[in-house]
Amino acid sequence: MDISVVVPLYNEAESLPELTDWIRRVMVANNFSYEIILVDDGSKDTSWSVILDLKQQHEQISGIKFRRNYGKSAALNVGFAAAQGEVVITMDADLQDSPDEIPELYDRVMNQGADLVSGWKQKRYDPITKTIPTKLFNAVTRAMSGINNLHDFNCGLKAYKKDVVKSIEVYGEMHRYIPVIAKWAGFSNIQEQVVQHYPRKYGTTKFGAGRFVKGFLDLMSIFFVGKFGKRPMHFFGPIGVISFLIGFFITVYLISEKLMSIANGTVYRNVTDQPLFYLSLLAIMIGTQLFLTGFIAELLSRNSSERNKYQIERVV
Ligand code: UDP
Ligand code: MG
Repeated sequence: MDISVVVPLYNEAESLPELTDWIRRVMVANNFSYEIILVDDGSKDTSWSVILDLKQQHEQISGIKFRRNYGKSAALNVGFAAAQGEVVITMDADLQDSPDEIPELYDRVMNQGADLVSGWKQKRYDPITKTIPTKLFNAVTRAMSGINNLHDFNCGLKAYKKDVVKSIEVYGEMHRYIPVIAKWAGFSNIQEQVVQHYPRKYGTTKFGAGRFVKGFLDLMSIFFVGKFGKRPMHFFGPIGVISFLIGFFITVYLISEKLMSIANGTVYRNVTDQPLFYLSLLAIMIGTQLFLTGFIAELLSRNSSERNKYQIERVV
């Protein structure tokens, strides 16, 4: 199979017939063998029955239904697991992304060596309250990840080589950082494609104003948990050791100073009268604590299985 289109959706009943029709037209025109995986992230509207109808009409359509709303990342993750195409395309359900971009996305992955192609909504049809924070978010993510060629990390329209989706896992709110996660997993050919963007046709955005606060908190946790989540000792350990060593060397200095003053017969000064002494104690204690924190985190991380606790209700 050439292409799997994975569509995460939450209350998008009105858009689905139009979206799937449009995708099908593009696939047929380009002779692609394909599947469309509609992942219903616990919709409260009639999305699921629309999916069942569409499935009746077209064998290329399949549906996965979550028992409740687990978020876009979880929806993408099960879509990734189910996808069979050589190229996997993700797309929002709300008709803001254009299926007409699919042939070029496919070509970049199959013929131009891309591991991941991320869409860039150069001209966006979103309110300014959303586009300005998004610019800031993208600049920070660029700087932190070193992926300098992406303008729009969180674009819903992306294409992946099959290997990529099979080797990464997204959970929590990670959908915003998939290019970063892919890079960490060793997929370095990350490309960008300017894509058409349309205003939302039906319904309203599923992410409120809190998205930016969340986005920045996620950024922190992605970078720290992503880098150190499996080896927390690598984060806490060095800081602890450095702090301990600072304290240790100050102590050595104080003791040698005292011994010298005794040897020279100069005025005896009590160690506990020196502010440095308390600093060294503090540094040794903090260092030890940090080291032990790293040790405990290391033990905990071996037993954590928080990921992917979502429940799939039905698969068709
Ligand atoms: N979505 C989802 N689960 C959620 C929230 C959103 O699957 O909990 C889907 C949503 O239905 C849409 C895509 O993620 O297909 C992007 O959401 P939306 O269009 O609301 O985001 P925006 O375009 O405003 O960034
Ligand atoms: Mg949208």
